[in-house]
Amino acid sequence: MSKRLFTFSRGAAARPVDAAETLGLKGANLSLLASLDLPVPPGFTLSTAAWREASSPESGLSPALRGEIRDAIDWLETTTGRRFDGDQRPLLLAVRTSARTAMPGLAETVLDVGLNNRTVELLARELEDLGFAFRSYLRFIESFAAVVYKADPAEFEDLADDERKLAGWRTDGPTTPEQWRALTARYLRFIETELGRTFPQTPLEQLYAVIQAAFVSWRDPVARAFRILHSIPENAGLAVTAHAMIFNERSQNSGTGRALSRDLKTGRSQLTGEFMLGGRDLAAVGGEVQSWPLSDLCDVDGSAKLTGFPGDICALSDHVRRIEAHVGDAVEVDFMVGDSELFLLQSRVAKRSAAEAIRVAVEMVREGLIEEAEAILRIEPASLDQLLHPTILRNGEETVIGKGMPASPGAASGEIMFGAEAARERAAQGVPVILVRNETHPEDIHGMHVADGVLTVRGGTTSHAAVVARGIGKPCVTGVNALRIDPEAGVLQARNRIFRAGDWITIDGSSGEVIEGRLPLQRPALSGEFAVLMEFADRARRMRVRTNAETPLEARAARSFGAEGIGLCRTEHMFFEGPRVQAMREMILAADEAGRRAALERLLPMQRSDFIELFEIMAGLPVTIRLLDPPLHEFLPTGDGEIAETAAMLGLEPAVLMRRIASLQEYNPMLGHRGCRLAISYPEIIEVQARAILEAAIEAGERAGAAVVPEIMVPLVGLRRELDFVKAIIDRVAGRVMAERGRSVAYLVGTMIELPRAAVRADTIAEAADFFSFGTNDLTQTVFGISRDDSAGFLATYERQGIIDRDPFQTVDVDGVGELIAMAVEKARRTRPDISLGVCGEQGGDPLSIGFFERTGLDYVSCSPFRVPIARLAAAQAAIRSGQALMGAAPPKSRGRHRSES
Ligand code: PEP
Ligand code: MG
Repeated sequence: MSKRLFTFSRGAAARPVDAAETLGLKGANLSLLASLDLPVPPGFTLSTAAWREASSPESGLSPALRGEIRDAIDWLETTTGRRFDGDQRPLLLAVRTSARTAMPGLAETVLDVGLNNRTVELLARELEDLGFAFRSYLRFIESFAAVVYKADPAEFEDLADDERKLAGWRTDGPTTPEQWRALTARYLRFIETELGRTFPQTPLEQLYAVIQAAFVSWRDPVARAFRILHSIPENAGLAVTAHAMIFNERSQNSGTGRALSRDLKTGRSQLTGEFMLGGRDLAAVGGEVQSWPLSDLCDVDGSAKLTGFPGDICALSDHVRRIEAHVGDAVEVDFMVGDSELFLLQSRVAKRSAAEAIRVAVEMVREGLIEEAEAILRIEPASLDQLLHPTILRNGEETVIGKGMPASPGAASGEIMFGAEAARERAAQGVPVILVRNETHPEDIHGMHVADGVLTVRGGTTSHAAVVARGIGKPCVTGVNALRIDPEAGVLQARNRIFRAGDWITIDGSSGEVIEGRLPLQRPALSGEFAVLMEFADRARRMRVRTNAETPLEARAARSFGAEGIGLCRTEHMFFEGPRVQAMREMILAADEAGRRAALERLLPMQRSDFIELFEIMAGLPVTIRLLDPPLHEFLPTGDGEIAETAAMLGLEPAVLMRRIASLQEYNPMLGHRGCRLAISYPEIIEVQARAILEAAIEAGERAGAAVVPEIMVPLVGLRRELDFVKAIIDRVAGRVMAERGRSVAYLVGTMIELPRAAVRADTIAEAADFFSFGTNDLTQTVFGISRDDSAGFLATYERQGIIDRDPFQTVDVDGVGELIAMAVEKARRTRPDISLGVCGEQGGDPLSIGFFERTGLDYVSCSPFRVPIARLAAAQAAIRSGQALMGAAPPKSRGRHRSES
């Protein structure tokens, strides 16, 4: 059976190998400090094995566990020379709860367990400080009631006032023993009358109750929501650490502080942090609490600058350095000075923002303390998102409708959605959303996750919305008093304006502003240590990282983030705007081929100039252009206004137009007339697209003085003959273009693998393809038989019910979709060893999926521009983890085969 209880004291700690899993972070760190012979108060940790036995309220603490706790208390009494409930110097305990991963919702720390009506008097006598002893007791009662009875600490606030009035104190607080006792009695009465409970006077009973409440706090809804969000297993469990209290905070010679082994602003090795002289008890009696930067605390000769201070505070610098050397990372230490002695209470890997984490990691490489690979592995790829916070491109004419707290940095524009469900549905349609609530609760977390930003009318910088938004890196503004939400009417009311669901707003989580409408956003460039980390990553990774981009803006952003080409240019996105959509509509609604060709002739120059610009921005890097993919009706007018306008343009009666539109509607457009099927029905469409691509390649190549080799990608192929059919058209057009221009142009023709049949027939299809790009959006949709546009609602339930671990549209389903991809890779390479293989579905920018793509041997991933740095880092981590790191090696050569039709 696994061990349930581990003791620790300076120089002696039984430390399991998997310390953090078994003892929780706090227990693991204290036992580490003890084993390094650093000054820690003695104590013990109840392991996650003990939690497993006793985590349900019904099971309670078993007699065996109680027995072990009693033995540990006996040992602590001997070690400290104090007695739990003794007649002289009382032993008091601090009880701390922690899991392997820090998470909200777990029981708060309870201090001074062991104080009761008798021991408080003993403590007062021992310390000759009545006020300190009773204040500690009252605080203990409050936190005991909060943790064990779930009482709101604010409920105790008025008790002292009531007692003052009743007893007629002339001072702010009690002074005489009688006044203190009377106030204590009022606290205990309150627990009996208002909470219907009896505060236990036996220290052991107090301890058991706190431990039991700590165990049960694992099931707190906030903790549970956090675990779901961070994929922490439900059975990971928590541990509870109890250690002897240190009596501090009473005088000018005592206090608490936090010491860091590094300056997080520079990443350099240097003791930083601060020390609060006197601490909170001094503040409670109106004393002056001074805060000192640690760098000022000691003289160079190692003696304390403050008179009456223990010299050993100057050993802090050595202590933190020793801990850092052992942990191999920047650490922060909570310490206390009490009774002229220094104690370290907790140590942990220093909390830091993404930027600070990068600085420390890069600096540690510079100092030779860690390898580049280690620095790469230390940075959570998704955290890079925080460094690339969008800002608003302002022109000074923005209409600010309210200002609140800047709760989580970054700006976002989106449609107002008043509920998590609505936000999820809208976001699933690819529309940016701002979740607008009075305040958020755990059940809103999934809505926050899909939203681009969060706005709450109430709350501050530590409200639920703020904390969660910062954790997941979403812009958030809280506490905007100028706004009101009328949930019944579904409106957001500003002083002189009403906004409804679907209206656009912009929030700036860095300034707290809420602005009307949709505003252009921009992201900062990579620089400093961030750029250095990216260099490390580029040296380590095997896979290339391309981007999915259509517009010059996106392509430029992607280049600045290090994209090595375009992996997917969705040409349909180039047809949605202004005059283009009209030409497109004309083409779709034309009565015959001649009409279609006439409209396409108007689109050709626009496409050509788009492609020239993309080729120029990508300057010689590969550019994969996909032929038209979506069903044609997506381009058709909707709503009476648009229909009337289009009818007038085409010289048709609106009723006739509506009949034509109706004839194009499909029951299941996702599985309908789209992808290469369009090319086969209307070859003239791809003739024009192929011409635009090839002419653009020639022109861009001439301007640059170097050949541009476009990669033409055919979507939604399931049959080899579909690809043959489309490729024959492309080759024919290429022949014509080259003859017309008197120039040869190299180009590649490949296909998306996004249907199960294509994956199964990859060997045969590879015979006709220069490259494959796995379209994991459609592949996931067709493998699961789940509509990618309708899945968000029920897949969230699947996640909650534990039926799936993750949304397969975000993280590739390794067992199903992944198996098909791996098979297709193997088959394709068997036919054509030099075939270039990439992925351009959403999952191409997801760190977990990137790990799978590395293991499968893909050549590149392609993702949205702002995920490029994330993908670069994730690809490096994946390469390191699979032992394929190319540290110092030259980047891989493209596997693509360049063909020429000269
Ligand atoms: C895909 O299906 O994965 C893909 C990239 O194409 P789209 O999302 O445009 O269907
Ligand atoms: Mg697709």
